[in-house]
Amino acid sequence: MIIFVGRSNVGKSTLIYRLTGKKVKRGKKPGVTRKPIEIIWRNKRVIDMPGFGFMSGIPKHVQERIKTDIVRFIEEHAGEIEVAVLVIDGKSALEIIERWERRGEIPIDVEFFQFLQELNIPTVVAVNKLDKIKNVSLTINKLIEKFGLSGTWEDYKELFVPVSAKFGTNIEELRKVIDKKIREFQERRE
Ligand code: GDP
Repeated sequence: MIIFVGRSNVGKSTLIYRLTGKKVKRGKKPGVTRKPIEIIWRNKRVIDMPGFGFMSGIPKHVQERIKTDIVRFIEEHAGEIEVAVLVIDGKSALEIIERWERRGEIPIDVEFFQFLQELNIPTVVAVNKLDKIKNVSLTINKLIEKFGLSGTWEDYKELFVPVSAKFGTNIEELRKVIDKKIREFQERRE
C-alpha cells in the first residue's frame, strides 16, 4: 500500500495523477473531501488521504476529525504501508511552519512527519511547486531543520525530493525513490 498525505491544496492530486496516470480529484462537497480515495495502481492500493490542516469553509471540529481519522487509518495500516508520500507546498511550507511555531504549536506537517517516523513507515517528502521555489537547497535545508533532523539535503536525498507536479519536473526522480523504498520494504518482509 502507498499513501499520500498533505495539507489541502499542496498539489497532492496533481502529483498522484503525474505518478500513476489516475485521477483522484475530489468533489467540492465536504463529505467527499473527508474520505480517503483509493485507486489501484500496479496491483497496489494507493490511498489519497483527505487534506489536513486549515481549509476555508470547513469548520475547525471537522478539520480535527479529519486529522484524527488519518492518524487512525495510518496506525491501523502501519504494517502494510510500503511508502508514505508526504506532499508539501515548497513555496509556502516554511512560512506556515514558522507561523505555527510562533504560536507555540507543532506545525501539522512536522507532526505528521514525526508520526510517520515513529511508526517506522518509509517516508518520502515531496517538496512540490518547485517551479515557485527561488532557492531550492536553502529551502530544503531549512525544512530539514524544522522537521527535527540534523544535517543538510546532501544527507537526505532520498527523503526530500523537490518536484513540480504541475509541470512534471523531477517526477522521475521521485518515482525512483518511491520504487526503491517499496523494494526495501519487500526485502524486509521476505
Ligand atoms: P490537493 O488539494 O493537494 O489535491 O491539490 P491539487 O492537486 O488540487 O492542486 C492545488 C493547486 O495547486 C491547483 O491549482 C494546481 O494546479 C496547483 N499545483 C499543483 N502542483 C503544482 C506545481 O507543481 N506548481 C504550481 N505552480 N502549482 C501546482
